[in-house]
Amino acid sequence: MNAEVIAVGSELLLGQIVNSNAKYLSEQLSHLGINVYYHTVVGDNESRLSDVLSIAKERSNLLILTGGLGPTKDDLTKETVGKMLGKQLVHDKETEERICQFFEKRGREMTENNRKQALIIEGSHVFPNDHGLACGMAISSKELQILMLPGPPKELQPMFETYAIPYFQKQMKVKSFIQSRVLRFFDIGESQLVDKIDNLLETQTNPTIAPLASDGEVTLRLTVKGEKEEENTYLLDEVQNKILQKVGSFFVGIGDQTLMGMLVRLLQQTNTTITAAESLTGGLFSAGVTNEPGTSKIFPGGFITYGNDMKSLQLDISDELLQNDGAVSHACAKEMAKKSREKAKTDYGISFTGVAGPDSLEGHPVGTVYIGISSKSKTESYEIKLAGSRQNIRERSVKYGVHFLLQWIRKETEKVDE
Ligand code: ATP
Ligand code: MG
Repeated sequence: MNAEVIAVGSELLLGQIVNSNAKYLSEQLSHLGINVYYHTVVGDNESRLSDVLSIAKERSNLLILTGGLGPTKDDLTKETVGKMLGKQLVHDKETEERICQFFEKRGREMTENNRKQALIIEGSHVFPNDHGLACGMAISSKELQILMLPGPPKELQPMFETYAIPYFQKQMKVKSFIQSRVLRFFDIGESQLVDKIDNLLETQTNPTIAPLASDGEVTLRLTVKGEKEEENTYLLDEVQNKILQKVGSFFVGIGDQTLMGMLVRLLQQTNTTITAAESLTGGLFSAGVTNEPGTSKIFPGGFITYGNDMKSLQLDISDELLQNDGAVSHACAKEMAKKSREKAKTDYGISFTGVAGPDSLEGHPVGTVYIGISSKSKTESYEIKLAGSRQNIRERSVKYGVHFLLQWIRKETEKVDE
C-alpha cells in the first residue's frame, strides 16, 4: 500500500503554520508498515484540490487528507472528494447528535453552518471527533482508500489513534511494522564510513542502512520491517554486528543520544566526577555538561582560564612552563587537566588549549588543539588539528574531548571489572 498525505489549507502555503500533521501521519503510517511516497500541500481552493486528487489517485492507493472539514465556506474537502467519487453528501444522524450535545454541554448556540458538519460522503465510514466537531471519514473501493481527518492536531491525533488505526488494521490486514535503530560514530567522516561498509550498503535490504552526518557526528539508521518484534530485533542485531566488524573502532553508541549525553550517563553510572580547565573553549565543555539534566553530582564546576594570567592564578601553571612550552602545548594541557582535577577534587580533569583563530598563536596554526585528560592513575594529552570557523573549531574540540574521555573512562572501568 502506497500512501500520500494531502494537507489542505492556505495557511500552510502562506507559511503561517507548519505541516506537522504530515510529519505525525508519516510516523504513524511507518509503524503500520505503510509506505508514504508523497506529501502534498494545497490551498483551500476547489479546482486545485481537485487537480491534486486526480494526480494522487493515479500514483497512490491510500490518500489521507487533513483539514478543510470545518463549517466555513473555505472548508471544501468533503465536497471536492464527494464530487470526484460521484457521491452525494448526506446527513449523518449520529454525528448531528454529537454536535448538538457538544453545544448543549457548553451552553452555546448552534449555528446553521455547524449543521453542515453533520454531512458525510454517502457510504463512508465515520470516525467520531472526541475533541471537536468535524467528524473524520474513510471511504474505500478496491483500488483506492481515502481518509479525511480534521486539521487541528489535537483533534486529528486522537482520532487517528483511536479510530483510524483499528480501522486500518481491520480493513487492510496490516501486520508488519517498522523499527529503527541509530548507530553513532565519531572521528570518521561520512564518506569514509560509507566506503568501509559499501558492500553492506549495497546488498542490505531488510534492515536498510541510511547514513547521516551532522555536527561532526555520523550516524547510521537501520530500519527493519517485519511482523514480530523479536525477529526485527534479531535482524537489527545481526546487521549491527556486521557493521561493527568493519567500523567498530569509531562506534560510540546506540540511540539518539549525543556524545555529551553519553558521557554524563557514563559518569553517573560509574559514580565518578569531572571538572574542566578551558582555554580556547571558554566554558563550552562546562556549558555542555550542565545542559544535561542531573549533573550536579558529577560536575562541581570548572575553570575558565582563557589568558595565561588566569592559568597561573587559578591553576598554578608555572611561568616557566608557559614560557618554555607555551600555553598551546602538550605540557600545558596535561598540567591544566591535572591541576584542575586536584583543585576540584574530582576523579577526572579535562583541559582544552589551542588556537581557535582567526590568528595563529605561539607559532601554531589555527586549528591546533591540545586536550589533556587526567585521572588518579595518569595524565595524558592529545593533539588534534581541526579546520573550519572559529566557532566550529571550539565546538569540535569539545566533541573530541568528550570522545577521548568516553574511551578513557570505558577503558578504566573495564580494567576495574577485570
Ligand atoms: P476546523 O473545524 O477547525 O476549521 P478543519 O478540519 O476545517 O478544522 P482547517 O480549517 O484546515 O481544518 O485547519 C484548522 C486548524 O488546524 C488550522 O488553523 C491549524 O491550526 C490546524 N492545522 C490544519 N492543517 C494542519 C496541518 N497540516 N498541520 C498542522 N496543523 C494544521
Ligand atoms: Mg476550517
